[in-house]
Amino acid sequence: MAAPTFSATPGTRDLLSPTTARMRDLVGVFADEATKAGFGQIVPPMFEDLDVFVRLGESTDVVSKELYAFTDAGERQLALRPEFTASVCRAYVQHRPTTPWKAWYAGPAFRQEKAQRGRYRQFDQVGAEVIGSHDPDLDTELIALAWRFYARLGLGQVRLIINTLGDKADRPPFLDALTAHFSAAGEDLSAESRATLQKNPLRVLDSKREQDAEIIAAAPALADFLSDDAAASFDRVQAGLRLLEVPFVVEPKLVRGLDYYTRTTFEFVSDALQSAQNAVGGGGRYDGLVADLGGPADPGVGFALGVDRTLLACDDEGVFGATDAELDVFVVDTTGAFAALSVVDELRRAGLRADRAYDGRSMKAQMKAANRSGATVAVIVGPDEAAAGELLVRPLRQRSEPEGSGAEQRRVATSDLVPVLRGLLD
Ligand code: AMP
Repeated sequence: MAAPTFSATPGTRDLLSPTTARMRDLVGVFADEATKAGFGQIVPPMFEDLDVFVRLGESTDVVSKELYAFTDAGERQLALRPEFTASVCRAYVQHRPTTPWKAWYAGPAFRQEKAQRGRYRQFDQVGAEVIGSHDPDLDTELIALAWRFYARLGLGQVRLIINTLGDKADRPPFLDALTAHFSAAGEDLSAESRATLQKNPLRVLDSKREQDAEIIAAAPALADFLSDDAAASFDRVQAGLRLLEVPFVVEPKLVRGLDYYTRTTFEFVSDALQSAQNAVGGGGRYDGLVADLGGPADPGVGFALGVDRTLLACDDEGVFGATDAELDVFVVDTTGAFAALSVVDELRRAGLRADRAYDGRSMKAQMKAANRSGATVAVIVGPDEAAAGELLVRPLRQRSEPEGSGAEQRRVATSDLVPVLRGLLD
């Protein structure tokens, strides 16, 4: 086959059935878990004023390098969302709902990344955010919500790592200690990390470069700089997770890729995936972001889970397969009249999954299509049946059944078709 003139641009994909059905099911499971926990859905726009995302922090890769920013015909500086949290906070400031405001979402996000398996330029996220409460039990509940979601999908190789980034006031002495530590390393630190050090020493902890590993391992720990409040809050989150039997490991070097986090941060990692793309989800507290977006000093906490990566983890673990999208009935019509058109319509209105052949094909070709369709039953209308107000109902051999099994075909009156089919399909 000749190469097509156009293909989906790098980093984007056409999601086709049955992947799309699986995604719908995944969002359905997430919506169910979030709804049970008192969350309502928000559907923010896919693009916003560039500044909404710039507030996420200019040393954040998604802002400094990966944003799809553009100017529209009205000379507005806009950007496609790289994640949802900034939009949710912007919406909170705009609408001022009663607090705590609990919102869940699902949809695509856009980042100019180097595309590879599990890393795309357009990818889907589901997530949940709560704005307006400092209660650490919310951190625990959110983590448990994500954990139960993964469990419902059947994933057994997801690990939870948590950390605390303390409060804004805990940072300066810690940042000073970090800066002193990394500066003392001199050229032993990678050039990239030395550049990061100038902008945000905390983000150096996020470096995955081999050269930096030892220096990072020896870096001062924020745990030694925490305020009593932040330490008590982190203790309560851990006690809560133990109570809810959500297993976790504290990882003092977990800083996550976004600048706005304070206090609790967490990440879900799948051991079924390659390490460069093994983060299936993450989140944390962002007690200053709402204020940064021009709102009150209200705290927030939330997470986003990567849909594409979660489905890859499901593939690799062999769980959460596509739901059976196969047909119940395939209608074969050799009369050339309207039998197929009216029968499939009647069956669909009765709630059955029904399809048919088109283009006036031969009986043989239509039967072949019926067998290929995966339908459980064929309904056949020829001139004789049509004249008698009847139809033939023929069970089709299912892939898992040996030849010759199943009931034989029979003639039924048109008016009995739906109950007869229901009996056969049950
Ligand atoms: P982040 O906001 O970077 O923590 O992203 C949350 C989750 O979204 C990650 O844990 C990934 O599962 C997913 N994700 C982030 N970036 C991408 C991407 N480029 N392609 C696919 N999934 C992504």
